[in-house]
Amino acid sequence: MRKIEEVFQRGLDMHHYANTAYPITPRSFQEYKIKGKDEVDRLVVEEWEKVNALGLYVHIPFCMRRCKFCEYAVFTGDDAAQEELYVKLLLQEIDKFGAALSPKIIHGLDIGGGTPSAISVSNLGRIMNGLVKNFGDDAVGDVSIETTPRIAAKDSEKIKGIRELGIDRISMGVQTINPKLLAEFERHGSTRMYYNAKENIRKAGFERFNIDVMYGFLKQTDESFMATLEFVLQLNPEYVTLYRNRYKDTKLEHEAVDVDLVKVNRQYKMAYYFLTAAGYNAELGKNTFSRVKGDVGTSAYLTKRVIEGMPYLGMGVASQSYSHSSLYYNQGAASKRLSGYKKWIEKGHFPIQDFYILPEEEMAAKMISVAFYFGYIHKTHFHNRIGKTLEELYTDEMQFLIENKLMEHQGDLFAFTQKGKNAINGITALFYSKKEQEKMYTYATKLGL
Ligand code: SF4
Repeated sequence: MRKIEEVFQRGLDMHHYANTAYPITPRSFQEYKIKGKDEVDRLVVEEWEKVNALGLYVHIPFCMRRCKFCEYAVFTGDDAAQEELYVKLLLQEIDKFGAALSPKIIHGLDIGGGTPSAISVSNLGRIMNGLVKNFGDDAVGDVSIETTPRIAAKDSEKIKGIRELGIDRISMGVQTINPKLLAEFERHGSTRMYYNAKENIRKAGFERFNIDVMYGFLKQTDESFMATLEFVLQLNPEYVTLYRNRYKDTKLEHEAVDVDLVKVNRQYKMAYYFLTAAGYNAELGKNTFSRVKGDVGTSAYLTKRVIEGMPYLGMGVASQSYSHSSLYYNQGAASKRLSGYKKWIEKGHFPIQDFYILPEEEMAAKMISVAFYFGYIHKTHFHNRIGKTLEELYTDEMQFLIENKLMEHQGDLFAFTQKGKNAINGITALFYSKKEQEKMYTYATKLGL
């Protein structure tokens, strides 16, 4: 049995990997994998029939080209035939769930990617109609979508059309305005483009506008990071979301070892004070800052997923789903290609690549890792979701965190302290299953840490 201090330190050493994306690699769950397509088809329905309320996620994988820091399943180029084929397959998947499941309560829909606004408004409308047909009107009651500055600046009609579909929250990735970094990441961007994008988003009538900014890049200075944030506030979004670059499975992975935690923590701290001084609020450690009173800034889907551990059903290539006791990834999660997804849908199966039935320890670790996106664990929601209290499952870990002033009880929350915010990766590792902690050690050795 490893000592708590030791696991905490290993999580800090592995700070690029011990984060909200649990487990470190899906291969960790191989022993829980269900084999046989027919058995997976049977179990996926059985699992979802235990769930009454859930969020929906739809993955649209298209982007003009892949940014070097991107970790997602993305198909590049501008191939209209590929778009039509993809939408047809996606609608078949949605229909298959609709036919198999009894009516559910839906709490929000995120259309993510890739770049979902890369496809036509009519195809987005077809997808939303498919969701309404199969999950009822609530499926499109609270919808968030992502766009790029390039699309939002160039195609005002499309942004207007998206708003007219009833989508009321839009998120745009600026990430950085630094020209050298943009060139290095092979990403489009200019201040004129961002202004035009903002104009079109506002003209379309969006009142819930989020901008993503990234930090923690090797060649990103504090000055260039703060210059991006200052510029972003000139665009006056309702929300700003900070994303720490995750190097794993990206073209920048080789740079990770040279990025130290001190720099990463310093940049978050600078941003936190800058944004809160400008009227954008968030709990310590939270990524999304909101200037709207009573609005946490994230989409309904993400908010409930993070705070309550709400089950979510992902559809589309490479999407992830999480029910009461299962976690699974659709075809394409590993290959980042369409062929497997297409093959299984055409054969009449759910297009699932890896389906795991997880023990309580893994479900709890997954819920807590995701909860740290907001900087705290909600104790009552944890109990409701897992069936045991936080104290029952993590007595020694909580004692260690409290004694070392890393986390504290704040009413119903178990939240980061200022000191704990700088040690989020070490704290997260403490809530990993014992098996995943061992995998973290093995992975660290492989990386020479
Ligand atoms: S625009 Fe976003 S999803 Fe597309 S390649 Fe770049 S980071 Fe990835």
